[in-house]
Amino acid sequence: MVKIKRTVKELDPYIPGRSNEDLARVYGLDPDNIIRMGSNENPLGPSPQAIETLKKSLHLINTYPESNIDDLKAKIASYARVNSEKIIVGGDGADEILDVLAKTLIEPGDEYIVHPPSYMYYEFTFGIHGATPVYARWNVEENRLDVNSVLNAISAKTKVIFLCTPNNPTGGLIEKKDIQTILESTDALVVVDEAYWEFSGENNVELLDEYENLFILRTFSKVMGLAGMRIGYGIGQEKLIEYMHRVKPVFSLIKLSHIAASATLDDLNYLKESTKLSIESREFLYEQMSKFPELRVFKSFANYILVEIRNTGMKSKQMTEKLMENGIIVRDCSSFRGLDDHWIRVSVATIEEDEKFIDVLKNILSDQQGISND
Ligand code: PMP
Repeated sequence: MVKIKRTVKELDPYIPGRSNEDLARVYGLDPDNIIRMGSNENPLGPSPQAIETLKKSLHLINTYPESNIDDLKAKIASYARVNSEKIIVGGDGADEILDVLAKTLIEPGDEYIVHPPSYMYYEFTFGIHGATPVYARWNVEENRLDVNSVLNAISAKTKVIFLCTPNNPTGGLIEKKDIQTILESTDALVVVDEAYWEFSGENNVELLDEYENLFILRTFSKVMGLAGMRIGYGIGQEKLIEYMHRVKPVFSLIKLSHIAASATLDDLNYLKESTKLSIESREFLYEQMSKFPELRVFKSFANYILVEIRNTGMKSKQMTEKLMENGIIVRDCSSFRGLDDHWIRVSVATIEEDEKFIDVLKNILSDQQGISND
């Protein structure tokens, strides 16, 4: 057997949401009727303009993608209100930007700070590159960042600090003044993950003028409805972006993704509608789930809601399986560091799907009550 790299041998595999086909096979369901509330996707579907432009572009796939994507960078820059030199675009979503960051920055012995429970991919990618995680804390009870836990975790070895706002999976926001406090307390790169910022209306772009060590991470997978096209971007200081471009795979952003991203940014009606529908669904789900006394439902600024199901007497695995038997996927949060096996995350869907979910949930909870009372 060849000798495998230590960091890879020790790596915990990343557990992504499951596909419709996979679940349809296991639970004997029709893949087209599965309700997806597990991966924080866009229930509206992609922009119609993006679909039309893609159809007209399919014949282009025999040629390599553009290595010069200045047109897309310019559109993203104008959307984000920064200059183009501050933008890097990734072709495996924001996840690729994380990988490129690690490739650009990490040397043996470096540390990075995360605040569990949060997005697990930070640890997955940075682990491969041999960096050591140091754990700060997200205060789940109050759904806010424990800022002191971040400040206390900073050492001379800290290379990167991850701050996720709105935080996945809890949905809480980090206050701008807390981000500033952290930026001022370190020379490390502070990566503010704004994958879901559009659903909160709050972002931190203006801090880039003031702080050299700020980097903002974003994606086309959520409000832009293009999770399957794998497009993400980073916004940082010009010098860092230039170094990152040196290590980024040259052709990772395929031509169809380039075209879809560009068409979606032009489709202002879609963007408005997409934001509105997801927020409506989130508030509807919050209101409806809050009616079940055995659930603890967390206020969210994103397109998903964290729910503690401890008082139902069920574990997340049992609850997610019962929902799947009814064709509904939600996220079992037991793989998130910092949460045990009594939490689920419910992503927004169409209101019709939300209603179906609430009905199914009601039945599951009343069956469970029956069992508990027996
Ligand atoms: N950051 C956060 C907080 C996320 O939840 C996700 C996707 N689930 C990403 C980044 C990565 O997004 P993508 O790779 O799809 O662009």
